[in-house]
Amino acid sequence: MDIQGKTALVTGASSGIGAETARQLAQAGAKVVLAARRLDRLHGLQQELTSQGLQALAVQTDITCRHQVKEAVKRAEEHFAPVDILVNNAGLMHLSYMRNLHVEEWERMIDVNIKGVLYGVEAVLSGMRERRFGHIINISSTAGRSVFAGGGVYCGTKFAVNAITEALRMEIAPAEGVRFTLVEPGIVSTELPNQITDQDVLNTPPPFHNLVPLQPIDIAKSVLYALSQPEHVNVAEVLVMPTNQPS
Ligand code: NDP
Repeated sequence: MDIQGKTALVTGASSGIGAETARQLAQAGAKVVLAARRLDRLHGLQQELTSQGLQALAVQTDITCRHQVKEAVKRAEEHFAPVDILVNNAGLMHLSYMRNLHVEEWERMIDVNIKGVLYGVEAVLSGMRERRFGHIINISSTAGRSVFAGGGVYCGTKFAVNAITEALRMEIAPAEGVRFTLVEPGIVSTELPNQITDQDVLNTPPPFHNLVPLQPIDIAKSVLYALSQPEHVNVAEVLVMPTNQPS
């Protein structure tokens, strides 16, 4: 796909991987809709991009609200054009041990990491199928491939994202030309761990000694790689690890 001129909606564009992916997409010529809850951050990124002559629109969106996700897609269409690219990136990682029963955090992760992804799919899928064109990128994790202690529910949400993405690709890509990609990063240096409240997890030493984490741009480039392929190529899955992260 030639990214130039395409309309892309990135969820979780207010920080980390989402912000950098939006930046890279805009620099590649896409018209980018920035969706997340922290509007001040979105406005800052919009200003940064538009001051360079790039196209970006901030739309405050809570992806746990189905109506707000649909509204963001509508705003994209009104301001730019129908959404060609959806990057379902927004996510929460409240790591906690199961015994500590952080039920509200379990629910929030299910709402954002699974239901938010599904709401994004719902909001763009019919239009993409009608136009027989589009690409949905779902940001999963190595946590979607193997479970670790303290990550039970987070891993469960990412396993779900893997299953949903593969089913979409199998059911829709061959007949209708819409593509689906699962991106699975290892550890990336972002704000994500700041949400952990479980004292037992916080008191556990980090799992990997002297790890050199990935940077958001490393994942943004993987997204661009998947999006830049010719129409007959669907990059189904991209696993990106820090070189010295074993698993
Ligand atoms: P950040 O915390 O920097 O970004 C998370 C983003 O999700 C923020 O922009 C946040 O925006 C958004 N978000 C959270 N809740 C909502 C909501 N209800 N509605 C809309 N947006 C929401 O972390 P990362 O960049 O690391 O995370 C991005 C994705 O990458 C996540 O899905 C994460 O699971 C995945 N990932 C990250 C890894 C890492 O090591 N960092 C490794 C593997 C995968 P706001 O608060 O403004 O709403």
